[in-house]
Amino acid sequence: MKEDDIRPDLLRVAQQEALDWDIRWLLDRRTQWADVDCPACAGPGHAREFDKNGFAYRRCADCGTLFTSPRPTEGVLKEFYALSRNYDFFNEHIFPASEEARLQQIFRPRAAFVARLCADHGIRKGRMLEIGAGFGTFVRAVRELGFLDSITVVQTGPLAQQCLQRGADTVIPDLMGALPGQGLFDLIACFEVIEHAFDPRAFLQHARAHLRPGGLMVLSCPNVRGFDLAELGALSDSVDHEHLNYFHPQALMALLERAGLRHLSHSTPGRLDVELVRKKWLANPELARDPFLAQLLLGADDGPRQAFQEFLAANRLSSHLVMVATKPAEEGAAA
Ligand SMILES: [Zn+2]
Repeated sequence: MKEDDIRPDLLRVAQQEALDWDIRWLLDRRTQWADVDCPACAGPGHAREFDKNGFAYRRCADCGTLFTSPRPTEGVLKEFYALSRNYDFFNEHIFPASEEARLQQIFRPRAAFVARLCADHGIRKGRMLEIGAGFGTFVRAVRELGFLDSITVVQTGPLAQQCLQRGADTVIPDLMGALPGQGLFDLIACFEVIEHAFDPRAFLQHARAHLRPGGLMVLSCPNVRGFDLAELGALSDSVDHEHLNYFHPQALMALLERAGLRHLSHSTPGRLDVELVRKKWLANPELARDPFLAQLLLGADDGPRQAFQEFLAANRLSSHLVMVATKPAEEGAAA
């Protein structure tokens, strides 16, 4: 898989205008931003590590989570995602143009993973809630496998209709609202959502309230200790104005615990770290400071690079983190 299959280069250039508009919109509301402590452990000790796009990124001294503070509040973010021109651009250009590639390379493997997970935990014909379903491509992949009885998604805006077309039974606009008639879910999926949350703990607690005891939650997010993010830091494309929280496995495990969920397993099935770092190094050769890594990433032979990416994924060292948690059967620490 190449990154260009997912985000074709030409489209990405045209997207820049939309991104710039989005960033300006957020910066124009700086007076409404709020200071926060570590979103993973609530630790008050943190130091400013770098700035990007007008956001200050801070590193938690206790747990090593990277996060923005100050950050747009919940209300500002809600308005932002309703207006975002970048999202409009994705919906009009990138998602339709790349849906087949995304289905093949991301969502079918993801659906197969979730199907195995459900089978392993005795969930048959279960009820799933997907938070942040986007274009509905995961819904489509899950429908193909037919292992779920019902699919409810949380999705606002024009994408709600896309999700219904791809097989969602019910679309609701807001996780925080009641889910009339839905009861509790066997499975909650939220892919690349928690890094956008103003208050990730509150987000998980809201999600948890919709999960039956013993039910599963699958979530994915960037891993700040993975190769792409650790190597590139501020220069990583994952570090953008939408991502407020950059956890790593141990930090996310601790956060889940604080939200009344129990960690079951995690992996880093990323496939793009090496290519992302290689592209940055090719464009900015001064970044390739380590001679051995430079030889590996910039050399003519693609084989070692592929093997290195597999090594990163197998050893939980990729920047793409997937974690599975459960809601303990007896009431846990959180309300
Ligand atoms: Zn922390």
